[in-house]
Amino acid sequence: MPRIRFASLALAAAALPLAPAALAAAPLCPATPAPQPAAWVAHINEVNHGLGIPADYAARHNLVPLPEGKDLVQVPRDVYGRKVEMVAPAAAALERMFAAAARDGVKLETVSGFRSISYQTGLIRKKLKGGMSIQKALTINAVPGYSEHQTGCAIDLTTPGVPAADGSFAHSKAFTWLQQHGAAYGFHLSFPPGNPYGYEYEPWHWRFVTGSPAASH
Ligand SMILES: [Zn+2]
Repeated sequence: MPRIRFASLALAAAALPLAPAALAAAPLCPATPAPQPAAWVAHINEVNHGLGIPADYAARHNLVPLPEGKDLVQVPRDVYGRKVEMVAPAAAALERMFAAAARDGVKLETVSGFRSISYQTGLIRKKLKGGMSIQKALTINAVPGYSEHQTGCAIDLTTPGVPAADGSFAHSKAFTWLQQHGAAYGFHLSFPPGNPYGYEYEPWHWRFVTGSPAASH
């Protein structure tokens, strides 16, 4: 299995004298993603080749390979009652943000948090099986290996009365609140209209960035 193979390569890397310190120093959810190990990038390429995604697709859409989140922490369950997870600093910031929103009379709800590369691959496979082209599928689901959900730093949000992952979220009181206060908790809108990544406008998708004022809240 690719994950096991990658884990064993990571262990091999950890045996190098400088690797553990370098790994420990890498912050979670950085503003600019760190370069990924060659073995992980090779795995991502292999997965995407299997889906028929052109080799230059990611580069053409300004996307860079992202790590897969580890040591995940549970955040409020999604609107369907399913478990949702993020990496620890993002989860803590989300909790503070939900509490602040509630104090302002805004109810935020989760839709989707961490998604592994294999789960993301499955989402795309399902769309292809349903007859959708890979080009269309990639405007809805991120390219595996390049999804912010894979890092455990991103979260899809909604509010009562708005369907999950629906454009009408942009017209909700919750969205206005997020635009005004999200950044104070480290959360930023990733895909505004006309974003350079080829994704549709996603008012529901917010990414936590480490080192933002969230830490002092
Ligand atoms: Zn999302």
